[in-house]
Amino acid sequence: MAYSRYSIIKMGAKAENELRWANCAQEVTMGLKEAIKNKIKFTDVPGRGIVYFPKCHLCGNEVQSKSYNEKRQYTCNRCKGITKELKNEERVYKKEIRFARALDRLEDMVGNLTPYERAINLVKVNLHRPGWFASTEEIIMAFELIKNNIKVIHNQKIKRYRADFVLPDLKIVLEVDGEKYHNSDTRKREGIRDGEIILILGLDWRIVRVPTAYINKDVRKTMLLLKR
Ligand SMILES: [Zn+2]
Repeated sequence: MAYSRYSIIKMGAKAENELRWANCAQEVTMGLKEAIKNKIKFTDVPGRGIVYFPKCHLCGNEVQSKSYNEKRQYTCNRCKGITKELKNEERVYKKEIRFARALDRLEDMVGNLTPYERAINLVKVNLHRPGWFASTEEIIMAFELIKNNIKVIHNQKIKRYRADFVLPDLKIVLEVDGEKYHNSDTRKREGIRDGEIILILGLDWRIVRVPTAYINKDVRKTMLLLKR
């Protein structure tokens, strides 16, 4: 049924309601047909309508559902909980690995980690914040910024954007730039994003993009990019 929003408005509220009913009725019939075809158990509960019992795609136990669509995957609450827990554990584990890798790389680069002690501790206590430290290079970058006593806000929301690092005293938005997605399209989008961020923060702000290759080669030298 291809009714545009405009034609529905023209038809008025009554027609819209009728259309909604028609769509609803169609969905119910479809669901019922598919349930019968796929041998899905269902019962008609007075006052509640049809309740379906499709199987959980993970454990095979029955799941209660008010609708049925054969294209949908059903998951029981228990399996949902387990999946969520596993994903969380995986996230924590991945970040721990990232942190260890960043430390290793930094040590290879600079030798002595003593000047970085405060930085390492600060990153460590904030490591598992959601959305923070999305890459090994972001961690190394944070080590270097903090070691240089630069005030830094990580993963800062700026209207609809998110900046890797905001350095308020230097009026710099620092982005860690991976090489993989760099074509003219992303460049163009980056240009628009940078322009909007500058308009929000002020024309005296700068966006500095630090390629991950620089960070991995010698993160200390990236500090040169922050100088005006
Ligand atoms: Zn299950």
